[in-house]
This record gives sequence, structure tokens and C-alpha cells, in this order.
Amino acid sequence: MVGHGVTEKMPTKEFHPLCLQPSLTTAKEMGALSTYPPRKEFNNFMRHHELLKYVSEFAAERDLLRHFQFNTEVMQVKRSDDYEKSGKWVVTVRNTQTAKVTTDVYDGVIIGVGHINRPKIPTYFGQNTFKGQIMHTHSLRGVQSFQNKTVIVVGMGCSGLDAAVETSTVAKQVYLSTRSGAHVINRVGPSGYPYDYTLLRFYLMALLYIFPATFVSWIFETFYLDQLFNHKLYPVKPKHHILQKDPVLNDHISSKILSGYTWKFPFLEEGIIVQEEGKINLYKCMFPPHLPHASLLVIGFLLPFGPGFPPGELQCRWAAQVLAGNCKLPSQEVMFKDIKQRYETNLKRYAPCDKMSLRVDMVPYCNDIASQFGVKPNLLKILLTDPMLFFKLVFGPFLSYQFRLQGPYAWDGARDAIMTAEKRMLYPLTKGKSDGIDENIYINFIKRIVRFIFLW
Ligand SMILES: Cc1cc2nc3c(=O)[nH]c(=O)nc-3n(C[C@H](O)[C@H](O)[C@H](O)COP(=O)(O)OP(=O)(O)OC[C@H]3O[C@@H](n4cnc5c(N)ncnc54)[C@H](O)[C@@H]3O)c2cc1C
Repeated sequence: MVGHGVTEKMPTKEFHPLCLQPSLTTAKEMGALSTYPPRKEFNNFMRHHELLKYVSEFAAERDLLRHFQFNTEVMQVKRSDDYEKSGKWVVTVRNTQTAKVTTDVYDGVIIGVGHINRPKIPTYFGQNTFKGQIMHTHSLRGVQSFQNKTVIVVGMGCSGLDAAVETSTVAKQVYLSTRSGAHVINRVGPSGYPYDYTLLRFYLMALLYIFPATFVSWIFETFYLDQLFNHKLYPVKPKHHILQKDPVLNDHISSKILSGYTWKFPFLEEGIIVQEEGKINLYKCMFPPHLPHASLLVIGFLLPFGPGFPPGELQCRWAAQVLAGNCKLPSQEVMFKDIKQRYETNLKRYAPCDKMSLRVDMVPYCNDIASQFGVKPNLLKILLTDPMLFFKLVFGPFLSYQFRLQGPYAWDGARDAIMTAEKRMLYPLTKGKSDGIDENIYINFIKRIVRFIFLW
């Protein structure tokens, strides 16, 4: 495995220079590992030290660290001489402490180097005449150097917005420049629940299968977003709909008013991961379809609408099944067709972007990957055998534990983790005095329908 970032071990964003916000932007239950519910005491939007504790405890309990080779940079990955027959890869690495270079042959390679580690720095006419400091958010480690300065932040993605908000606490004046505006979401959603805990639900995401994305976007914008933050009151209302480009998450934009990344796998032999006519040729954002062996793949190389950790974990689980020979990929023809279909659907829906092929909706994507190796829950069977669980799965938040209810490496604790998620979510808000808030699921369901029809 090349890279050992969040997807594989979730070491923490503590080390990420770009991370100005003190906590995650996705709720702890929504991004949880499927066999490891986060502690109830953790904040819903975990702070960095909590994420570090969460993944470190997981790694220690499962004795994972012995599998990691730290201080190792992968320099080159190329097909072995007998690749056509064996499917093997030759990997050259460099020890970053001793500079020693070694080469080994592997049966399979998983690339997990992330896709937001290469800053994209635009240039513009007359840039060299600018006397001030120009920097990318990637190198921004603190805001003290902006004390009493005039700052312009170019770009209104999550990190641009973070930079604007944080620098505004010390700078004389901060301007936020945006080409297309953005939809802004607050962490706290209706009734004080985390926004994604409320929105990422199977029955809400199912609307996308029934209605056009523009109509679903309009519903979300009108009945959810505008109640929180009327974008027309600030000149940031974008032309695109909310489901056409990632919304940005910030809790301060209504009181305080250089980002962008590109992708590359410099160590990988040419012609393995290619972009043709805009399309990045990866089946399900993972497998290069033209290779005769499914022995090299990419993990975490996607832009999900929702938390990235559950799809990343499912990708790892499917990859393990494929590499072990328990699952087969379809024919090249089917894979190319799937890639084309995703790309063309995305083209119609999303604002232009060079990573168009990597955009996925978290809920259908997770279901899709889970069904590749038999861990997608059988809702009909669950409806007949366990209606309480069925209601949680369809109308409750979309939790990763559901992918441990059946199939390879099912987990006995999965049902309980689903049924108790609300308690763990409420705990930091009520400090355990949540009795009476976690109402009967049927009553909650009826309330939700009534609210949807009359108010929302
Ligand atoms: C500011 C910010 C906030 C975010 N907040 C959230 C959030 O709240 N919730 C959420 O779900 N997601 C969030 N994300 C996204 C999340 O961090 C990524 O989806 C996740 O880190 C991807 O994990 P990864 O393991 O695929 O890649 P990474 O975490 O990027 O790890 C890749 C690793 O590979 C290593 N590597 C690269 N090249 C080589 C090489 N040649 N040899 C060896 N090692 C190499 C890198 O050093 C790195 O350690 C956020 C991202 C940012 C930037």
C-alpha cells in the first residue's frame, strides 16, 4: 500500500497544514469506522486530538501498526517483466532517514496517496509586480503573520473560507474573492443536530433516483439552506445548484465575511492511470480498466458528497476481496461503459471541474461498492425480520455500521451500533441527560413527515 493517510489508518488531520478549523466538518457517527463506533464523549465534530485518539486506539486495539513501514517514500511503481503472466509490480522505495533505496516485487499494489496534496497555484498577468506575499492555503500554518495586514483570499472552497475567517481575526481587512460563489452550510442543523446526521439519509438521497438533480437541489436550498443562511443577503449566491458543486462548510461566514488542488501519481509508470477527453479512466474510481490483472488500484481518490471515510473503508474492503481472488471485476467493456456513464452523468450535473470523474454521492456510491462484495444490507429481508432496524436504515442517518450486518467480515455489534448512534450523538450535547430526547423511532418518523409537508 502506497501512502498511509486517513483512508487507511486515519492518522489525523493534525498534521495537515491546511487544516485551520479546529474540528472535522463531518459528524463523528457519519464518518465512523464500521466496526468501531466513536466514544460517546467525543464532540460530534471531532477535534483533531479526538480524531487522533480515535484512529490511534483503533490501530492499537487491532495491532495494525506492525504492518506500517514509516519513513518510506515510494519512488517508482512499474509492471514486472513477466507482468502479462503474473500481474506483479516492481516497487522502488527510499528510506527518508537513511536515503537507502530498495526494490521489491509485489503481487498487488494499492495506491492511497490522497488527491489534495498537490497545490494548484494559478498565475495571472502582472503577478510579478505584486509586492506583497502570495501563498497557497496548503502552506498556511497560522495567521499571526497577517496581523494588521490587508488580505485577499482567492477562492471560496472550504479551505479558502477557513483562511478568510481565521485571518479576519487578526488582519486589518480581509476580502474574499469568488468566481462562482458557493452554498454555505453550518455544522449545526435543524434541532441542533449535526447537519449531515440530518441530511445524509437513505430516503432523502433516494430522491436523486426519482427526480432530476436540479429539482432535488432546489428542495434542499429552499427548505434547508435558506432557513439557515439566506445567500441572497450576501453576494455569494452561486449560479450553480447545491448538488452541482461541493457546498462549503463554515459556522462564521454570516458574522465575518488561494486554494485548489490538482492530482498526479509521479511514481507510477506512465499509461496506467490516464485521463482521456476529461475522463479519468478508473472503474468505480479505483481500477484501471485496461490492465489484464486487477492487481493495482487506487483508494480514496474520489470527491464524495458527504464524509470520505466510509466510502474509503468500503473501497479497502472490496479491494481486499479482489486481491484475494474472492471477487472478479467485470469485462473491460463493462468497466469502460461504467466510467463513461459516470462521467457523462456528472458532466450534466456538476459545474466544470478537472476531477469530474471522481465526483460521487456518498450514499449511492457506498451502496454500489458494498454490493460488489455482498455487504449491502438486504432491506426487504430486514423489513420482514427486524422492522425497527429497517426504519433506522431507511429513515435514520446513513451509518457505516450497516455494511457489517451481512457478508464477509460481518460484525455482531453492527445492529447495536446503529440503534445506539443517536445516544452517542446526543451525549456531548446533553452530557448523558438525553433520556426523552431519543424518542420512539415511529413517532420521529411521523413528525418528520408532518414537518416535511407543512414546514420543514
Ligand atoms: C482541511 C481539510 C478538512 C477535511 N475535513 C474532512 C472531514 O471533516 N471529514 C471527511 O470525511 N474528510 C475530510 N477531509 C478529507 C480527508 O482528509 C481526506 O478525504 C482523507 O485525508 C483522504 O485520506 P487518504 O488516506 O486517501 O489520503 P491522505 O490523508 O492525503 O494521505 C495520503 C498519504 O500518502 C502519503 N504519500 C503521498 N505520496 C507518497 C509516496 N510517494 N510515498 C509514500 N507515501 C506517500 C502522504 O504523505 C500522506 O500521508 C478534509 C480535508 C482537508 C484538507
